[in-house]
Amino acid sequence: MKLRVGVDLDCVLRDFKKSLFNVYKQKYPTHQIVPSEQWTNYWLGGYFPIGEEVYKFFREDAAEEIFLNANLIQGAYHMMLQLNKIAHVTIVSFQPNEKIKELSIRWLENKGIQFHDILFTIDKEYYVGDFFLDDCEEHLNFIETAGNSTPICWNDTWNQNWKGIRVNNHQEFLNLVKSKCG
Ligand SMILES: [Mg+2]
Repeated sequence: MKLRVGVDLDCVLRDFKKSLFNVYKQKYPTHQIVPSEQWTNYWLGGYFPIGEEVYKFFREDAAEEIFLNANLIQGAYHMMLQLNKIAHVTIVSFQPNEKIKELSIRWLENKGIQFHDILFTIDKEYYVGDFFLDDCEEHLNFIETAGNSTPICWNDTWNQNWKGIRVNNHQEFLNLVKSKCG
């Protein structure tokens, strides 16, 4: 039977962070954003001068520009192409409103990303599979506790407290899945 693999979207496949930076800088050219190399957790309000308002900024005000114009993270297209040949791949992503869900589907189509299913949920731990690739420590912890799939951390500055398995790039994740294929 094929392996089942869950893959997060933002900051794993889609370069949400850079796109948010770019659009924010256009709107607020004089604002100083904390460089992403210094981000140590997932609370974006701490890195942008408008604080918590940044959530409304990217989820509503500038959602189309940010989510639709984001670039692929290098290596993402190839990984998904190869992964789909050896596993059943579900993109599992938390998108807080219908507009961003729709924009996300359009983005995946525009980029020609291969996958079998897509699941929009905040409760990622209910996904049942073999592996789950995500960059968010909170989700990884919930996934680990629930035990429905094995959480794999996409290495980034904001998830350095994660003690479990981590990968540094798409090829490493692909190799990990390949190593479990009969
Ligand atoms: Mg993510």
